[in-house]
Amino acid sequence: MSDTTLVKCLVWDLDNTLWQGTLLEGDSTPVSDEVRAVVDQLDARGILQSVASKNDPEPATARLVELGMADYLVLPQIGWGPKSEAVRRIADRLGFAHNTIAFIDDQPAERAEVAFHLPDVRCYSSDQAVALLDLPEFTPRTVTVDSRRRRHMYQAGLQRETAQSAFQGTSEEFLRSLELRMTIQRAEEAELARVEELTLRTSQMNATGVHYSRAALRELIGSSDHEVLVATLTDRFGPHGAIGVVMLEVRPDRWHLKLLATSCRVVSFGAGTAILGWVIDQAARAGAHLVADFRPTDRNRLMEVTYRFAGLTDDPCACLAGCPTTDGIQRLHVVAARRPAPAALRLDAVDLVADHVVQPPAPRSERPLANQRDAVGHAEHRDVHPAVAVEESVEFPHRHGVRVPRV
Ligand SMILES: [Mg+2]
Ligand SMILES: [Zn+2]
Repeated sequence: MSDTTLVKCLVWDLDNTLWQGTLLEGDSTPVSDEVRAVVDQLDARGILQSVASKNDPEPATARLVELGMADYLVLPQIGWGPKSEAVRRIADRLGFAHNTIAFIDDQPAERAEVAFHLPDVRCYSSDQAVALLDLPEFTPRTVTVDSRRRRHMYQAGLQRETAQSAFQGTSEEFLRSLELRMTIQRAEEAELARVEELTLRTSQMNATGVHYSRAALRELIGSSDHEVLVATLTDRFGPHGAIGVVMLEVRPDRWHLKLLATSCRVVSFGAGTAILGWVIDQAARAGAHLVADFRPTDRNRLMEVTYRFAGLTDDPCACLAGCPTTDGIQRLHVVAARRPAPAALRLDAVDLVADHVVQPPAPRSERPLANQRDAVGHAEHRDVHPAVAVEESVEFPHRHGVRVPRV
């Protein structure tokens, strides 16, 4: 088979595959160090693992716990039904296409049964277990901080789904019950792989459909008038991981949102809206207009809705004059105004304004915003530079050596 689509979940048989021996026959069923290393390494690569085993559920589950393997496994299917059914349930519940599922079993008849009913599932014999790590379909191009966390994210996601189906109340009330917390921070060098992965994986909620290479991202992070930001989300069930990326070109009169992309998994939590609202609020505090790139693809209509709903339009504005357009890119615009903090989530974000706006020694009467809490809940407040047009810039010493307007 030459399919090198990445495997997203490997389903293990137990007897004589994950462990040695047969549990029902009273064998001691140890897990070899080699197989243990495979399980741990696949987990680190962000490949989920599950079980399809013909065994009595209780003793088999107890044995997995005893062996320290239970935590590695999501949705284990232990019982006496056909294995193809077990594998299908795992794929359905995770929402994975069959060609991203792999199945490993020592019994040729079990592999044949799965292959017959699920021809896209890739089947491996147990003697291939140790060699899996070297196969291209088990070797993601990038391994990120979130890869190691992926299992926890799915486990949290499954608990969240269960809680949601049992929840008595409106979806708004459920959202509030999640205790969502979002963090927006500058991307660091170590996170480039994760940012790149986000721009690759976010086709539905990607404003331009443009994928940025790691080298391009590195250049933007190093550029004094660009900001590359990463949003992460957590709730009471656990982490969602990095769910959004923002690329901004910051100029005194105009903040240019070159990319907003969020994970499809968090659309229902209003993550895209919350991030966009925060960007608009930051631009408003800096006294700048916001311009956003949008390029329609066949999948990102939802992102356009998010932009329009936030008040961005095609209307002309003088600030667009020095902003050359690129092929196929629409340029949306809003005269940024302060935004309220999002209702259903707590936002903790870096303050970009302080780094991009020089504080003028304005007379007291012109400082209406002083001492007001800002929308993201920072207790301290920095005065906002009211000027829109500036004639020259000077180098100003701080983190990036950002060019800031002289007044
Ligand atoms: Mg077996
Ligand atoms: Zn404008």
